[in-house]
Amino acid sequence: MPEPVVIAFSAMAAKQYMGGLYVASTSGTSFYIDPDIPETKKIKKIFSHSIQGIDFIAGSTKKPLPLEEQKTINRTTIIELQALNPYQNQETKFTVKAIITELHIHQGWFYNACPRCYRQIKQSGTSWWCDNHGHLTTMPISWYKINARIEDSTGGMNIVMFGKTVQSLINKPCSILTIQEGYTDPAVIPPILNQLKSMSKIFVIQFRPRGAFIDAVVIKSFDDDVQPLSLPAPTTIPSTETISSITSFDPKTPQVEGKKTAKRQLTFTKPVSGEEKPRSEEKLKKIKHE
Ligand SMILES: [Zn+2]
Repeated sequence: MPEPVVIAFSAMAAKQYMGGLYVASTSGTSFYIDPDIPETKKIKKIFSHSIQGIDFIAGSTKKPLPLEEQKTINRTTIIELQALNPYQNQETKFTVKAIITELHIHQGWFYNACPRCYRQIKQSGTSWWCDNHGHLTTMPISWYKINARIEDSTGGMNIVMFGKTVQSLINKPCSILTIQEGYTDPAVIPPILNQLKSMSKIFVIQFRPRGAFIDAVVIKSFDDDVQPLSLPAPTTIPSTETISSITSFDPKTPQVEGKKTAKRQLTFTKPVSGEEKPRSEEKLKKIKHE
């Protein structure tokens, strides 16, 4: 197809977002490539010499890890994480099970970001400047940046969380707070952010340089949704096979593993004889439901 190509869209809705106009498709939207209308010729003439291609964002060819692996990869405690040299471990993602105990948002909780790379941008005259992308042609977006402290039984450490990580924890995009709810002052803290405090999660942490410093950045969080199993005391179950499979369960192993063990146990447990049978089955069912 000879360049430039003109595409005409019909039945679009013009909307406003962050002070700028944009068009959104509707159920009646159709598009036409090089439609046979006078405007097509005009547009082709204008753009015949200056075609600037669209930036394509390279998609990742890597397959994401299964969820259970993402939750447990390089599982460490906070004391172990702090013993590492962050400069030598920037490529590694660690998971920590911890609680957010303090929010350090007195210095602000969001910043104006480049919509393409989420870097902090600077005002330059009447427009905005991104160190990666130069003058912005679109409006900046507001992006969460929250410093906090997390703790586990071994210790505590300071972390920083950005944009979507915070959004997923409180189920609210930063732009809703700044534009719709009017929290435009980074020094005024919206009450919803207090929900972050005392959240217990599995945090995925990566060390990232920031100038001369290095931050422990929470790049993702997961619910620690597996509840500890309340296992029956082995003495009440007569079958030796059942006992051995239950006693092999170590309550100190990650709870995810514990669930797997219980499932396997269900599969292999043979019916037991005598009076104890219904009791035992009832217990196993209980484990299954948990
Ligand atoms: Zn940028």
